[in-house]
Amino acid sequence: LKDRKIAIIGSGLIGMSWSMIFASAGYKVVIFDIVQSQIDNALKQIECQLKSLEERGLLRGKLTAKQQYSCISGCTDIKEAVTGAFFMQECVPENIELKKKLYKQLDEIVDDKIIISSSTSTFMPSIFSDDMKHRAQVLVSHPVNPPYYVPLVEIVPSKHTRKDIPTITRALMTEVGQKPVVLSREIEGFALNRIQYAILNECWRLIADGILDVKDIDSVMSDGLGMRYAFLGPMETAHLNAEGFLSYCDRYSKTIYAVSETMGPVPKMEGPVMEQVAKELEQMCPLEDLEKRRKWRDTCLTELSKMKKEL
Ligand code: NAD
Repeated sequence: LKDRKIAIIGSGLIGMSWSMIFASAGYKVVIFDIVQSQIDNALKQIECQLKSLEERGLLRGKLTAKQQYSCISGCTDIKEAVTGAFFMQECVPENIELKKKLYKQLDEIVDDKIIISSSTSTFMPSIFSDDMKHRAQVLVSHPVNPPYYVPLVEIVPSKHTRKDIPTITRALMTEVGQKPVVLSREIEGFALNRIQYAILNECWRLIADGILDVKDIDSVMSDGLGMRYAFLGPMETAHLNAEGFLSYCDRYSKTIYAVSETMGPVPKMEGPVMEQVAKELEQMCPLEDLEKRRKWRDTCLTELSKMKKEL
């Protein structure tokens, strides 16, 4: 068990995951939320999840579930929560006004040392930190849901972020078993969503043009590209698909360019195609089954992450 403290601000889905991840390495985790019942509920859920993970042999770290749970406590005073912490992970809802208000409040109470890290999926750090006195200590650490099983973290500094802050954050994320990547500067959508949107856009065009239906489009990913991508990225895939990357470019770059030129403008996801996609998806998975399907997804990801560790 470590004597170093990490504050988690917001105890929803992502706040709970981060708490478990940091506690798995023995950090002292203090969870703050504006709603006391939310903290109580989060602590109960965390205890239950840790036990269940232990029973299934999936608990991270070397400590027992009981030891990990003993690292985590709740707090309804934000000042008390961040005082003495060397790192804080903000996990409040994705609402820019709410975040700006919170960062203004934090600016008044934090010291000059604490790293202020946001889980935001969509806001570049400068958007909520530009006006802060402590803006040099702010960055984004964007997790992927569910973070306990999908380890990627996108670390995104603003132009004001002190140079050592991403480095320390990367080391912390690595220590607790996540897979951090550090962007050299902030950019809309970071990296994961830029790539995800490029894929979504092309899927949309293929559906809109009547080339494939929704089920078959998803099969192209889950039974094709996705099988590889769980182990190798697109760049190494290219390297292996020829005699190295130079040979790949020599063989395929003209074709890739020519095909890409036929892709058409960025589609707006609205109108009759949107209705059609929703209808087909609801046939595949009715809205009342979403929760069941999410549980199945989490089980698959758990098994995959186990397998990736063993291979
Ligand atoms: P959530 O709605 O599940 O939880 C938000 C929590 O914040 C709630 O417990 C709420 O009571 C609390 N809260 C609200 N205002 C607060 C305040 N002023 N101070 C402290 N706590 C406050 O949200 P979530 O899904 O956990 O998302 C949190 C952040 O993580 C968002 O920025 C989101 O973009 C990001 N994120 C979410 C996902 C995802 O898939 N859910 C993935 C990656 C990143």
